[in-house]
Amino acid sequence: MTRQHIRNLTMPELREVVTSHGEPEYRYRQLAKWLYEKLADTFADMTDLPAGYRDLLEAGYSAQSACVVSMQESAIDGTRKYLFELHDGGRIESVMMPYDQRTTLCVSSQVGCPLDCVFCETAKGKFQRNLTAGEIVDQVCVLKRDAGLAGRKVNVVFMGMGEPLLNFDEVVRSIRILNDPLGLDMGAKRITVSTSSFPDRIRALADADVSCSLALSLNAPNDETRSTLMPKAARFAIEELLEAANYFVQSGNRRATLEYILLSGINTKDEDAAALAELARGYPFKLNLIPYNPGRQSEFDSISEADIDRFVRQLVPKVPTVTVRRSRGLDIDAACGQLWTKSLTEKEKPVKEAGE
Ligand code: SF4
Repeated sequence: MTRQHIRNLTMPELREVVTSHGEPEYRYRQLAKWLYEKLADTFADMTDLPAGYRDLLEAGYSAQSACVVSMQESAIDGTRKYLFELHDGGRIESVMMPYDQRTTLCVSSQVGCPLDCVFCETAKGKFQRNLTAGEIVDQVCVLKRDAGLAGRKVNVVFMGMGEPLLNFDEVVRSIRILNDPLGLDMGAKRITVSTSSFPDRIRALADADVSCSLALSLNAPNDETRSTLMPKAARFAIEELLEAANYFVQSGNRRATLEYILLSGINTKDEDAAALAELARGYPFKLNLIPYNPGRQSEFDSISEADIDRFVRQLVPKVPTVTVRRSRGLDIDAACGQLWTKSLTEKEKPVKEAGE
């Protein structure tokens, strides 16, 4: 019999399972504490649960769904990049980025990605499947445990492999578990869903009963350029996407950011800055510029510091908040999809088994 993954359950479901086993109601709080505060990956570790109940859980459930195949740590900034193997052999990446005052975890929502943005390493591999909510939440738990952050607050961004809104139900379920005070107890400002398209789903996320922020991966100042860089995402016009992101902000007093990857000479000309400023004007969005981090066989060049400054200077008077997100882990394969595409050709053995 296949065991169910226990981190796939929302807190009300966990309570229902525990009480259906004839256990007192408080038992599910004990279990949730082990899973999300102490980040246990085996039931055997849950020493304040009766031994017989731990055995029953072990027989029917697994406490971790993925094993770490490899981990790279940057000597420059401590960024850690993880490659996980899932129960069916699928592989995904997650990244832990330590900053002075916070730690941000970047998680994947799909194995591969069905969109084919031309600047993205993930798009070079084949899309395999959606992740379950439990597989998403596990990435957070494993990274927190590995970084010694049990019981500490972190930020989570859905900016790893995959398009989160194409895995809508499981992503929303995972956010429920992240939000729940008995789960990872994270509020809207700590969770960012990054999407490249799908205005209807942006609105549906706004209407879902979950707390998160939104990042819209724009990357072009007009539909024409966008359709060459993000051909599938560009099925929907930029204007429609901005309106949907605005709905997201206005309907729940939430935050939305426009993300713009700086591809030297492609979307960084003076007229691009002017068109981008015109697009963003009047909307309550922050603009986050991301200098491109070239992959191993990239057809795009990195942008120089002088060109970044020039681009920013043209935006600043017109767009209220412009930030530049510096690449992390430049000495490791830290850009989205780099480690995964590398692993498709070099199969590595797991260094830590699920539940070990
Ligand atoms: S940038 Fe995001 S949406 Fe585009 S192919 Fe890569 S993972 Fe998919």
